[in-house]
This record gives sequence, C-alpha cells and structure tokens, in this order.
Amino acid sequence: MGQSRKGKKNRGRERSETCEGCGRLFPRHRGVEYSKRSTFSTDLRTGDNVSHSIVIDAWYCLSCAKHRKILEKIKRQNERQRGAF
Ligand SMILES: [Zn+2]
Repeated sequence: MGQSRKGKKNRGRERSETCEGCGRLFPRHRGVEYSKRSTFSTDLRTGDNVSHSIVIDAWYCLSCAKHRKILEKIKRQNERQRGAF
C-alpha cells in the first residue's frame, strides 16, 4: 500500500493521511489510526493449513471512523491496554 515518504507533499508540518474508507486525504488530527488484524491461511492444496495474522495500520477520517464504529473499537482497545479487561 502507498506508504511512500518520497513524493508526498506536506503542507506545513502536518502529515496527511489517506482514508482507508473513502480514499480522501486528510490531516492527521482530523482522523484516527486503527490497527486492523487480518487473518489468512496458506494454500489448502498442500494440506498445510497455516494461518497467518498480519496487522495493518490504517487511517480513517472521522466520518468513516464513526460510520464503521471504529471509534468504539479503538476505545475498547485502549481500555484493554489499561488493564480494565
Ligand atoms: Zn473517510
């Protein structure tokens, strides 16, 4: 995915991120970072059913974060990290 640091024009000091939901460009303070975990398994032909899970850091603008209930997920993640689980 497009995480190239070269060729990205930064206005001022603020970094811009592309929204994973709608593809819009927004300044960081207008969105949230969300690490989503996706799991996939290797080819079933060989019988080796090895599943990998990778974590993808994605940015969402505020409206997409609200729509997709990402804000709630992030809240829950933070609560777990504090040990309130
Ligand atoms: Zn969006």
